[in-house]
Amino acid sequence: MDQAGQGKGRTPRSRNTQRTPGDDPYESDYLALFAAFDDDASGTLERDELLSHLAEVGILPDDPRVQPLLEAAGDVPDQGASLDYAGFRSLIEPISALISRVAGGRLAVPDFGGLAADIDRIYADLQSETGGKVADYIPQLAQVDPDQFAISVCTVDGQRHTVGDADEPFCLQSISKAIGYCLALEEHGVDKVHQHVGREPSGVAFNALTLNPRGRPHNPMINAGAIMCCSLIRPGGLLADRFDHVMRTWERLTGRRPGYANATYLSERATADRNFALAYFMRENGAFPRDTDIVETLEFYFQCCSIEITAQMLAVAAATLANGGVNPLTRERVFSEVTVQHCLSLMVSCGMYDYSGEFAFTVGLPAKSGVAGDLMVVVPQLLGVSVWSPRLDELGNTVRGIEVCNRLVELYQVHPHATSADAARKDLRKRRGADTAELVTALCWAAGQGDLGEVRRLAATGVDLSAANYDLRTALHLAASEGRTDVVEYLLAHGADPGRVDRRQATPLDDAERDGHGDVADLLRAATKRRPPVKGQKGKGRR
Ligand code: GLN
Repeated sequence: MDQAGQGKGRTPRSRNTQRTPGDDPYESDYLALFAAFDDDASGTLERDELLSHLAEVGILPDDPRVQPLLEAAGDVPDQGASLDYAGFRSLIEPISALISRVAGGRLAVPDFGGLAADIDRIYADLQSETGGKVADYIPQLAQVDPDQFAISVCTVDGQRHTVGDADEPFCLQSISKAIGYCLALEEHGVDKVHQHVGREPSGVAFNALTLNPRGRPHNPMINAGAIMCCSLIRPGGLLADRFDHVMRTWERLTGRRPGYANATYLSERATADRNFALAYFMRENGAFPRDTDIVETLEFYFQCCSIEITAQMLAVAAATLANGGVNPLTRERVFSEVTVQHCLSLMVSCGMYDYSGEFAFTVGLPAKSGVAGDLMVVVPQLLGVSVWSPRLDELGNTVRGIEVCNRLVELYQVHPHATSADAARKDLRKRRGADTAELVTALCWAAGQGDLGEVRRLAATGVDLSAANYDLRTALHLAASEGRTDVVEYLLAHGADPGRVDRRQATPLDDAERDGHGDVADLLRAATKRRPPVKGQKGKGRR
């Protein structure tokens, strides 16, 4: 499913029908997009320039959506491959909705550079946080370097940023529980799954030997509940196929093939008395589906915990949940919306072990942590965040990970129950300079400077090209008095009104004449003739 194709506004859409010149309703949209990237109006644009534009807003070169642009490079030996309009159009047609959002500054996090800078700052600040200690009850986990640290973000538009050891693999551990729950839901539906596992916080440690009053595990986010969900994933199938199914799911969630830490699996299995005890306790209570093989189920559970991914990949998985189950990079639906809704709800109440209540109070976001020091946080409809830092607090949560969440909530309006008047915090959804007044000021400034590239980009945001600033001066006034012929040409060609008057009752033509810019004056005279002012109101052209 192509979510990106659902943007509203002037989003060009690809069509399969044969185009005939002059009979293409999307032509002007594509031309505007081309112009938005063709900074120097040369009629060609460097493919690398387009790629670096995309990278600036977080659409990175390894993004599968960008691959067609890169592959096109293979046809052209020279790296700085130039694209003319036709080449540009054919390359971007499949991702035109994305490109249009990039050009118009309408991605999920419009000021992505600002977010990336904040993430880098938080990362640098927390380097000195060395509290907590690495999990050692699974011997293999005790061997990791405790100083490793990564933060990664991915928005629902697939804008990504990463800092630190973001390509180092770590084991999912408890984070596998959230996805195991989703898989059980997809297979059996919510009613059946919750005949076997509750959905209340347990109020005790993740491996506590306790069940709820119905003899069921308290919820799917603690060991007993996760072992139960494993018993519900393709029961009766071959263990190899069941494990493949989980691996493939992680591949679809992250867009990349995960790894597997066999040593961690062996080490956990060899020291798993508590998990065995939990499983037998549940069997004693008749909690499992009929015919469940306990030992096989436990092995399956340990294997799921030993799947290895990186912080980068985990952020994409979190973004897939934020995006209602659709991977923002591959645009593949992995889980249904209702599965994701149930999972996020339980992540809010139970995802952070016995710290879940406090976390829900201070941060409020759905999150899941694992004893490898991994953490994923979801800001629904906006982005996913992952943190990996192996030192844990006494409840089993990554110390730096919790601190990253506290910082994000301090900086941004992401707490779901924050008061709306919280102006001290930044709104990640807000476009930089999104106020109309700011855009108009920016447009006038760019026009006066002769910065045609910026004028085009602003035009692509949909700002009214005839709008006036505080002095009632329009972009045309500024461009005319500075003699910016190309900008005047562009503005007129795109419908800017040459008849507006400023505070001194002067039109752009008056300015051009006064300041001796003959070329510009000719253009304005011709345009004014084509569009005479409304009688009795000098300069009051089209509104
Ligand atoms: N595999 C670990 C266990 O069962 C997972 C626990 C965790 O991450 N909290 O003990």
